[in-house]
Amino acid sequence: MSRSRPKVVAIIPAAGSGTRIGGEIKKQFLPLKGKPIIVHTLQQFEHCSEVDEVAMAIPESALSDMETVVVRFRLHKVNKIIIGGKKRQDSVGNVLDRLTLKDSDIVLVHDAVRPFVETKRISHLIKICREYDAAVFAVQPKDTIRRSTGGGFFDQTLDRTSLWLIQTPQAFRAKLLIKAFEKAKKDKFYSTDDAALVERLGVKVRIVEGNYDNIKITTPEDLELGALILDRWRAKGIM
Ligand code: C5P
Repeated sequence: MSRSRPKVVAIIPAAGSGTRIGGEIKKQFLPLKGKPIIVHTLQQFEHCSEVDEVAMAIPESALSDMETVVVRFRLHKVNKIIIGGKKRQDSVGNVLDRLTLKDSDIVLVHDAVRPFVETKRISHLIKICREYDAAVFAVQPKDTIRRSTGGGFFDQTLDRTSLWLIQTPQAFRAKLLIKAFEKAKKDKFYSTDDAALVERLGVKVRIVEGNYDNIKITTPEDLELGALILDRWRAKGIM
């Protein structure tokens, strides 16, 4: 079937060790109201009509669990499950290397442990990426942020109006993301943020106002908060 628009592929890095949450089960597989966190996340992309394919990075030890989850929850868009790397960037890079992409295709990168990404917001991000080639969700901090260079004392208060907390998904034209990853590898440059790699090409990344519900589940408290958000979303019919 020929496609009249560029393909949209979502990369979901899920190969973290999840050590900060404790316990035996990796955090991306922990249940949130009866369903693994990763399933909540993947279903948002499954339901987004603009997303064509989903490719994941998984720890080797979780490969067969993931294959079972994909079948059980009928995640039809998941067409690649790749072994992740040491750092998040290695995991995303491993997946990117295995994708067949045209320059104008769009690649989204989204943390497996951020289940509260609304389908309509994913669509909005793709729309902005079509216009600007690189776009990321971010929210402004509510608290004042102070900086310390160590020693147990602060040295300055940062200007809150110019600060943004970076979220995922992040969206890029395939050509840019591939080039950014190649350059980062050559320069041995690492970041926890894919947008930072793209900016090293001299490209401007468009800020898209995010949602404070789009939390990254990292600690046991986040899991409790996640359950409350899920109740609220279900009551509103979002999830
Ligand atoms: O560790 P952090 O919370 O920043 O992880 C963000 C996302 O990246 C998680 O979904 C995690 O599973 C993934 N990750 C990965 N490969 C790694 C480390 C993290 O895919 N080596």
